[in-house]
Formats: sequence, structure tokens, C-alpha cells
Amino acid sequence: MSYTPGMDPTIAAEVAQMTEFMAEAGCGEPGLDPDIFFPDPQEDTREAIQSKTLQAKTICWTMCPVRETCLQYALAMRFDHGIFGGLTPAERKKRYDADPR
Ligand code: SF4
Repeated sequence: MSYTPGMDPTIAAEVAQMTEFMAEAGCGEPGLDPDIFFPDPQEDTREAIQSKTLQAKTICWTMCPVRETCLQYALAMRFDHGIFGGLTPAERKKRYDADPR
């Protein structure tokens, strides 16, 4: 979730606080293709999905100082797409299934 014009100010403040970590995100480095964090099974070949996933995970796990915060955010928001916190949607789903809240 991100700020949307017209959003309730209280919710907007909560979203801003929850996403503060993104200012330090490894995936925000200039020149990085954000598309690698969103392999698309409908559009990408199996090889492209594997390549994008490996590239994204490498950045998350080796370059990102906020990986754990990002992962907790993605788990809280129940994102079912994209690489967040170094995990794929399927890997995050295992976490939900193991610890449903
Ligand atoms: S953990 Fe990965 S997806 Fe999350 S902010 Fe860091 S680089 Fe971006």
C-alpha cells in the first residue's frame, strides 16, 4: 500500500511510517531494473523467472540493510506477488501457513 491522494490522514501517516524503511532499500539503488523483483509467470519464460528471482534475492540478501523490515512489511500486507525481504510469494506463504495471525 502506498499513499493515495484523498487517503484518510491517519491511515496515510501509518502507511508513511510503515514504509519509511524504503528510503534505505537495496532495490532503490540507481540503475537497478525494478522488474527483476516482479517475475511474471504469465509473461516470463521459466529461465527469465529464475534469472530475475536470483538477481532480486541476491540484492535483498547481500545489499539491503532493511531486508528483515521489508520482509515483516510484506508478511503484514500479505503481498502475493514480487520478491520482498528476499523471499518469493511462495516462500512467504509458507511463513503465513506456519504462523497464521
Ligand atoms: S529486502 Fe529486497 S525488496 Fe525489500 S527493500 Fe530490500 S532489496 Fe528491496
